[in-house]
Formats: sequence, C-alpha cells, structure tokens
Amino acid sequence: MKPYPSLKSIIAELLPLHRTIVSDDMDKTLAIIGGYLPDQANYALQTYSPGTKIWTWVVPERYIVHAAYLETESGQKVVDFADNPLHIISYSLPIDKILTWDELEPHLRYNEKFPDAIPWEFKYYERDWGFCLPKNQFDKLDRTARYHAVIDVEFARDPELGLKIGHGVLHPAGGAANGAGEIIVQAHSCHPMQANDDLAGVVSTIELARRLAEKPLPEGSMSVRFWFGPETIGTIAYLAHNEDLIPNLQAGIFMEMTGNKNKLAWHHSRQHDHLLDRITQYVLRDKDVDERDFAAAPANDERVINGPGVNVPCISLNRFPYEEYHTTEDNLNIMDEAMLQGAADVAEEIIRIFASNYIPKRTFRGPVFLSGHGLWVDWRENWNLNRAIEKIMMRFEGEHSIFDIAEQTGLDYWETYEYVEKFRAKGFVERLPIPSEAHTS
Ligand SMILES: [Zn+2]
Repeated sequence: MKPYPSLKSIIAELLPLHRTIVSDDMDKTLAIIGGYLPDQANYALQTYSPGTKIWTWVVPERYIVHAAYLETESGQKVVDFADNPLHIISYSLPIDKILTWDELEPHLRYNEKFPDAIPWEFKYYERDWGFCLPKNQFDKLDRTARYHAVIDVEFARDPELGLKIGHGVLHPAGGAANGAGEIIVQAHSCHPMQANDDLAGVVSTIELARRLAEKPLPEGSMSVRFWFGPETIGTIAYLAHNEDLIPNLQAGIFMEMTGNKNKLAWHHSRQHDHLLDRITQYVLRDKDVDERDFAAAPANDERVINGPGVNVPCISLNRFPYEEYHTTEDNLNIMDEAMLQGAADVAEEIIRIFASNYIPKRTFRGPVFLSGHGLWVDWRENWNLNRAIEKIMMRFEGEHSIFDIAEQTGLDYWETYEYVEKFRAKGFVERLPIPSEAHTS
C-alpha cells in the first residue's frame, strides 16, 4: 500500500491518462488505484472479452487511438489528440477525409458556458466521429476553407484486451462473518481528464478503504467490497460475470463528484425508506445537505446495483451540480482536499453503522435479572439509557435491528449497539442477519 501526501495528489497522477471505458490507460488507472488500496483488500482485476453478451448488453471493444487531428487543407493544425484526449469524441469511428465546412460542422462540439474549455463528449454505442474544441476557437475557424479530418483508431477485440474492472474486499475484525453479507462501494474511473467527475469519487473511496483497514469493522459485521471500473457497462459486466455475489449484497454506496466546494448531496435508494436510507439520514441529521430521490440527476451505477433483477438498495453521494461538469474546467483547480475527505467521513459512518447493525434475537425468558448479570445501568450515570432498558428488552423478538431500536428509543446508535452487545456477550441474545432485498433472477 503506497502512502499518499493528499487525495489531490492521486487525482493529479491519474488526471492526464486517456481513461475511457475499455482502453490501455484505463488498465493503467486500475493498476494505480490498486497500489493505493490496503493490502488486506486483496485487490484484483477481472477482464471480460469484447463481444461477450452480458445480460442485454455486449462488452465493447478496446479503443486504441494511434493519431487523431483536424487540420486545414494546407496542413495547419486545428486540434490534436496528442495535446488533449478530449479533442476527439470518445469511441469516434476512423476517418481520413477532406471536408467542406458544411460537412465538418455537424461533427464539432464546444461548450457555450466555458468558451475556452474543451468539452468531453462520447459516442460509445451509436457510433459516429467528431472533434471537441473551445467555442472561441470554433468561432474563428474559416467557414470557406476545407479541412482534413484524421482519426486513426482501432477497435480491438482480442479477449485479453477486454474490459477490465478492479475489485477488493475488506472483512471485519475476525474475518468474513457467515451470513452477514456485503456492502458494495463503487466509484467509476472512466472519464478522461476529469477531476471531479470521476477521480474525486475514486480517491474518496480509496481513503474510505484505508480507514476501514486501519480500524476494521466490529467482528460479525458485513464485509465491504470496493469496485472501480467504467460507468454502467462495467457494473453490468461485473454483475453478469459474478451473479453469485448478488444475493450476498446488502447495500451499495456510489460515490462521485466529491471534490468540488459544494454541499454534499445524497440520493435515496430505489426502496426510498430502506434501513440504508434511514441510516444515511441519521448520519447526516445535523448537516446541511441536499436530499434527492433515487437516481435523480446525475444517475449512475446505482441504476444497475439497485435496478431490475439486482435490486440491492444503493444510495449515491456527490456534490453535484457544478458548472465545470464534463469540460476541461473540471480539473485540479476545483478540487478541495477537505471536500474529498468529508465525503469519505460520511460514507465511513454510514458503513460503520449499516455493517455492524444486526437483529438481536432473545434467548431468555422473563425479564433479565439485570444487576445479577452486570447489565443494570445506573440512572445517575445514564438517565436516558436507564429509562430505555425495558423498551430495548421488549424489542428482542427478531423483528427489530439495533438501529431500529435506537431509532425507537431515541438513543444514539453506538450506545445502543454497545448495550445490546453486552446482552449478546452473556448469551441472552443471538445475532440474526438482516435479510437481503437482492433479486435472485
Ligand atoms: Zn460524468
């Protein structure tokens, strides 16, 4: 596990790479991410062969750019991929042709709001070709001239050059807990030259993994799976190749755009009032945050994780909207270390509660002889807990999780957890896992 001086420094390292859904630089990105993850996560890559059917989708080919530029007929460069990979629309088809302005113009993209920025555009599936350039440069182009468009690219189909994802799992103290299941944390990493969308989510997730490795979740908790790869298609490819993981998934957290100076927004799960939603609300109760519906813009991999046939409750954490979105203005200048860390703080607390939560099931009959077993709480020391003891003991029938009990008694989650754990240590309650809502087909 490589140390890092700041999360921003990892963004700086990954930013220049031409990361697009299936590409050589995407492989490099996934390797670099792995270097920063804790060794205990056993981070590994999976490769899916282009053309493979994955549910209703197909694994795309690898996009290899040999050269791409636009020049005037007399050979004056207008834009060059070598200067910035955003100059071509990702997955542009090959072309080598002299064009009039009228033929060229429909293939040029710019951004009105930032006239000096290059926008990032992609055509992964309805393939076409095109160049992206600053609006100010577009305005100055000679409408009477002819232009030479060159896009020399390859769509590689070799199985070993397939779509790659990176994943790893951190287990709680004492190792994987039988039947507890997993939480999946996802950050996509396929947006070339974009800092906030999407490297910010990647580094907040790296930070989260390091914290969970440094201070593991309590014994018996869920494990936490970390996932990096191309947006949407990567998650579909991953789940379609690892269907056996799905029934074990209890929840998902999708992180992106965590680095700009804006308040945090969280999007509900598709279930809307799932335990995961309530725990998120609890963690953010005193914070100024935006609360949004499931997959309200922007919508990402949570549409797969929490979508049809998978249905794992998944929230999204981000700091959207921001104006620089999908342009060269989304760069290190708008990245803030405290914002990146702040998103990790929130995700960490949600996970610590969600993963440690369980359903305590009574093994005793009659009210427990509290003082005889060291379970009595002196009202002079903790009035609220003393008042709640009866209510807590009445909720050990296998219907309520510890979080439910904390909510119903108005106690702090961790205080409730610690107290219930004392009953479990005495053998008065046993731990029941929370049932998963994942679809099995
Ligand atoms: Zn995006």
